[in-house]
Amino acid sequence: MQTVSDYFGSMVFDDRVMRATLSADVYRSLKRTIDRGAQLDISVANAVANAMKDWAVAHGATHYTHWFQPLTGITAEKHDSFITPAPDGSVIMEFSGKELIKGEPDASSFPSGGLRATFEARGYTAWDPTSYAFIKGKTLCIPTAFCSYGGEALDKKTPLLRSMEALNRQALRILRLFGNTGVKCVRTSVGPEQEYFLIDKEMYDKRKDLIYTGRTLFGAKSPKGQELDDHYFGVIKPRVEAYMADLNEELWKLGVLAKTEHNEVAPAQHELAPIYSTTNIATDHNQLTMEIMQKVASRHGLVCLLHEKPFAGVNGSGKHNNWSMATDKGVNLLTPGETPYENAQFLLFLCAVLKAVDDYQDLLRIAVATAGNDHRLGANEAPPAVLSVFLGDELTAVLDAIENDKPYSGKKKTQLKLGVDVLPLFQKDTTDRNRTSPFAFTGNKFEFRMLGSSNSIACANIMLNAAVAESLKQYADRLEGVEDFNTALHLMIKKTIKDHKRIIFNGNGYDEAWIKEAERRGLSNYRTTPDCMPHLLDKKNVDMLVSHGVYSETELRSRCDIMLDNYCKAVLIEAETMVDMAERQMIPAIEKYVSEICKTAILKKNFAPDISCDYEHGLVKSLSQSIERAAACTAELKEVVARVRDFCGIISEADFIRDEILPRMGALRAVVDEAETKTAAEYWPVPTYGELLFGVR
Ligand code: ADP
Ligand code: MG
Repeated sequence: MQTVSDYFGSMVFDDRVMRATLSADVYRSLKRTIDRGAQLDISVANAVANAMKDWAVAHGATHYTHWFQPLTGITAEKHDSFITPAPDGSVIMEFSGKELIKGEPDASSFPSGGLRATFEARGYTAWDPTSYAFIKGKTLCIPTAFCSYGGEALDKKTPLLRSMEALNRQALRILRLFGNTGVKCVRTSVGPEQEYFLIDKEMYDKRKDLIYTGRTLFGAKSPKGQELDDHYFGVIKPRVEAYMADLNEELWKLGVLAKTEHNEVAPAQHELAPIYSTTNIATDHNQLTMEIMQKVASRHGLVCLLHEKPFAGVNGSGKHNNWSMATDKGVNLLTPGETPYENAQFLLFLCAVLKAVDDYQDLLRIAVATAGNDHRLGANEAPPAVLSVFLGDELTAVLDAIENDKPYSGKKKTQLKLGVDVLPLFQKDTTDRNRTSPFAFTGNKFEFRMLGSSNSIACANIMLNAAVAESLKQYADRLEGVEDFNTALHLMIKKTIKDHKRIIFNGNGYDEAWIKEAERRGLSNYRTTPDCMPHLLDKKNVDMLVSHGVYSETELRSRCDIMLDNYCKAVLIEAETMVDMAERQMIPAIEKYVSEICKTAILKKNFAPDISCDYEHGLVKSLSQSIERAAACTAELKEVVARVRDFCGIISEADFIRDEILPRMGALRAVVDEAETKTAAEYWPVPTYGELLFGVR
């Protein structure tokens, strides 16, 4: 029998395959490109392309594709076969270095936010050699970046790579100041924990809301929800277990380090976490994971829901982005060290993150803003929409001691002098098990917990990397050339703590009192996507992102437009789906049931005139009122949806949708959900919450 180590990465053109199939010279040049971004010679590219093609064909591939991540949030691919006609009527399989390095998909249908007029529809894709090529089905997939002809990024990978480079540049400056000359690069690593729901495909197929929008737009609460907490870490049901086993195998073949799986809080909710890897690879792998999750589900008669809030009244799904910075020597810069210098360096990087999160709260909020995630943030199941950092009591006490020049209590009664003293050993704080902090330090990494389950993790990491790069830049600008490094360092760390301690919060983030306290501290609280998104273009944000070369101003403008446009489209599709379901399914179903009760009552009266029929009378009256209210709510919803056409600016359109459309959707839902509880089960036209949430056994 094949073991996991036999087939792990078998569909990946990884280092093992490169070594085995490339000549020593070609391998060395390619490694230089991968490790240091050196330019790749065309003859080397040809050799790599040829080896890739031979390997892929031997593994059953017939096509290749430049695999990229446009601003739709999902991945895109256009398949070309390797075949080239030979003079004798046969075909040979060919793939050139040019085809490997650059592609020119017709890009007119991808969102560009005005960056590219349709008459110049061509964008181009450029190979990202730092992420391995892989085979999916019968296609060799080459991870690529996607740009317009003018060089503007039309994807999420390009700015992500730029942000990693920005952080690398600034972190190296800091490390040099600490006398660290051997380090060649600093990379960020990410381990994203992915939540999802699994439901039965037959039931899914009966619900237009799930099909069109990924979430239920109607549905009365089932008698049992998540109140018993009996699902979290519970025994995995056989059908789900078979699914997970199959999913792991597919992911492992693709080199994805799928590691942990368990049931989540809500019924039918699960989580998968991989072992962390370099950010751009983690991002590619997370996109791939989401895709494979859905594909494998359909093989098992299941559907994998990645929407942030598929069901009202039970927890939604998010993604925890575990993030750290490490050198090419494998040293994690967020690990407290053992020598005074290492400690000081750790505190400086820690402070850089604190400052970054405080200075760019808005960018981090924007990075996770979608119509779907607006249902979670601040809803007592996910972090609030307010950013804060959890450090744990011990580390907070250390910072407090530094800020106030007081002895760090307990262990050692002396004042802490950075660069001279060793930090007291502090334990990883275990009090954060409640998971209410949006941004928590967990021993040697930060865990950013506001991401939605369907978000590309690229967005959050672009902003995080860029913001931390900016803190490090300011530190390096200040420290380079000072005479007394230790004193300057100490003062700077002190100043950071003083200026940014408002962002530290170790308490319960779900507590209403915290939101008030956060307001007093001046932290921003953007509840919805239209609230936060326009701040992407605030001068301080544009200046920072442009100065680090992460985005151009034009790119930011286009992204702001696209994100708001996506928000509007998502909600409008939901509104139209609700109208359709209400008018053509829910109201007719209630009518039919009412008519049936009326018939029964008449029959009863004819049969025995002394029967009261009070029950039937009351029910008919109540359901008829529901029908009238549902019809009125539907008409109102239709009317406001029609008014969207009058708007010409995307910001005012998004505001209108938030203020006028979403509340009316809520009103319609409330009426219909109430009627559902009074309508005989056999009349209800779609599977109920109970069936959806407890239907997979
Ligand atoms: P939990 O959050 O459930 O307690 P862990 O903290 O063990 O679980 O890990 C969650 C995720 O964090 C995993 O994907 C893991 O690989 C990742 N992780 C662990 N260490 C690091 C690190 N230094 N940098 C980035 N991610 C990390
Ligand atoms: Mg976690």
